[in-house]
Amino acid sequence: KGKRVESVFWSDGVAGLHPYVPGEQPQIANLVKLNTNENPFPPSEQVLAAIAAAAQSGLQRYPDPQSADLLQALATYHGLENGNVFVGNGSDEVLAHAFRAFYVKQKPLLMPDISYSFYGVYAALFGIQCQTVALSANLVVDVNDYLAIDASSVAGVVIANPNAPTGVAISLADIERVLQHFGNVAVLIDEAYVDFGAESACKLIAKYPNLLVVQTLSKSRSLAGLRIGFALGSAELIDGLVRVKDSFNSYPLDKIAQAAAVAAFADQAYFEQCRDAVVSEREVVTAALQARGFTVLPSATNFVFASHREHKGRDLLAALRERAVLVRQFEKPRIADFLRISIGTAAQNQALIAALDDILA
Ligand code: PMP
Repeated sequence: KGKRVESVFWSDGVAGLHPYVPGEQPQIANLVKLNTNENPFPPSEQVLAAIAAAAQSGLQRYPDPQSADLLQALATYHGLENGNVFVGNGSDEVLAHAFRAFYVKQKPLLMPDISYSFYGVYAALFGIQCQTVALSANLVVDVNDYLAIDASSVAGVVIANPNAPTGVAISLADIERVLQHFGNVAVLIDEAYVDFGAESACKLIAKYPNLLVVQTLSKSRSLAGLRIGFALGSAELIDGLVRVKDSFNSYPLDKIAQAAAVAAFADQAYFEQCRDAVVSEREVVTAALQARGFTVLPSATNFVFASHREHKGRDLLAALRERAVLVRQFEKPRIADFLRISIGTAAQNQALIAALDDILA
């Protein structure tokens, strides 16, 4: 692709970065897009109304730099104080600020060997060393492997729960053991997919000042296009994040995003309706894949991670693409033969299964 690998104009280290590569967003009609774990349903009507109203609210003025209304909505929703909430431009940005605020230390950051690949990208950007802990043979986070590590030897711990791209969740009891063992460092639990089937660690915040829970409105709230993420944690951790954020961008959330996010949390009924539809479709897709020779990991998310006993992951990816079905596959050790398939509408999922029937025939 004619990619430039270095330039005299670049700062030290820029040539050595390995930027995250997001799933593609092609503008192709009739594409069955199951590659980036978006919600297949549009945002709530109330959110769309709030966006229209926000557009009339004087966009010539800067937005509230604190996003106070949104902090209040999130605090109320989660039974916390405003000082326990931080918001950012997508949870990716919240993660970046957290890495900068808590993990730039002379010790490595612990994380699973197979997880959200942006963690390694941020670590490299900020000069953080990573220490990976292998998932167990069945691709699950085994917290015993973390408890066996000397807590004073690490800068912190990052775990996605449910994990990505595997989709498997661990229990709150396991998370609590990690929080206790690593009591003197920040433990970040990335809950991007938690609403689809895992238990949130947010109820442990009052007890563990080292716990930072990160969530997003991109998945269960159908707002990937607006870029809204947030973190919940002790005032100590939130203050650290605010210091970093205010040294980077005072206004990460625009007026439209702030208003839309408040409205999204106000429409609980629509949220539950979409979530329930995704969860029940996930079970339909899982059964259909199993019936066609796939092994499907137990998913607590809006996607499934599945491998076929006879076909290579990359071949299936390409064959599905030829049939206008987009999924994701990671050319990495242990998971190269898995497809990560986002759960779509019933019609999209049927198109996926029909394409697989054609491929496997
Ligand atoms: N964490 C995980 C585990 C994810 O899969 C994603 C989505 N790619 C994110 C965080 C970031 O989501 P967003 O920036 O849209 O909030």
